[in-house]
Amino acid sequence: MKIAVVGSINKDYTAQVDKLPQKGETVIASNYKISLGGKGANQAVAAKRLGAEVAMIGAVGKLDGGQDIVKKLENDGIDVSGILIVDDEVTGNAMITVDEKGANTIVVYPGANNKLSPLWIEKQKEIIRNAHFAILQLEIPIETVEFAVKISKEYNVKVILNPAPAKKLPEEIYEYVDIITPNEVELTQLTGTEDIKEGASILIQKGVKEVIVTLGERGCYYTDGIREIFVEAVRVKAIDTTAAGDAFNAAIAVALGEKMDINSALIFANIAGALTTTKMGAQDALPFRQEVESFKKNLVFG
Ligand code: ADP
Repeated sequence: MKIAVVGSINKDYTAQVDKLPQKGETVIASNYKISLGGKGANQAVAAKRLGAEVAMIGAVGKLDGGQDIVKKLENDGIDVSGILIVDDEVTGNAMITVDEKGANTIVVYPGANNKLSPLWIEKQKEIIRNAHFAILQLEIPIETVEFAVKISKEYNVKVILNPAPAKKLPEEIYEYVDIITPNEVELTQLTGTEDIKEGASILIQKGVKEVIVTLGERGCYYTDGIREIFVEAVRVKAIDTTAAGDAFNAAIAVALGEKMDINSALIFANIAGALTTTKMGAQDALPFRQEVESFKKNLVFG
């Protein structure tokens, strides 16, 4: 089962500090870490770990050695032929400072992600054509997202749109989306309501076929405009929720691609999301298929 991920690739530079720097202040970090992130890359790695064949369409910058990231993703077993290396740019990055209490400041520079153009997607369209599902997020230019969902529909490839980070979408995009997966904040941003059912039904009216709202530690809500399903989260000891949504989205694609029914797919995705919260970091925390399966077994027989 093949999944094409069209999305962002980032490097996260995280400095641990006693106290966040104030305006004009310099503080010395006690720890520093560079890790691979970006919702696109996270979802690609997650889908691969959950058992799919994955191809990534994205962009990295040459100025900071983005080729190393491409190598790493390739070593993870991902088809990287659709990743553009931009000569005069750096890879998208997030500069994060975290204090002792976990409060943070984040500056994101999109870098090469902003160079991912419709033209590049056009050149890579065979990758999309060969996939069962295309997964997209909103960390690349919106016109590129729009172009990629249209191409996907042309080829009858199912589209999952994870509308994160939240921003308003062009109205004409919705009819090309099979499944949209906002969290609660994103749902409100897209629809103007905090009511989950009402928000989901607005998205259905706009032309999306299925809506899955992720609800953090409460699980998720699904509707196709007729059926409504609420699946409670599985109970875990959550320590860091980074990338839970990324694992969830990848898991939905993998499960539906394997023809699981929607109930089973939601349970599978809830487990993948929950397991991600039990480990620190983004890609380091994404679970493997085996971990999800053994957790599921314990749920049934435990
Ligand atoms: P995002 O990370 O995009 O904000 P959510 O926080 O809604 O998304 O999390 C995505 C999914 O991960 C949830 O639908 C749920 O299945 C799982 N999840 C997240 N946080 C927890 C938690 N504390 N306990 C159990 N499952 C969780």
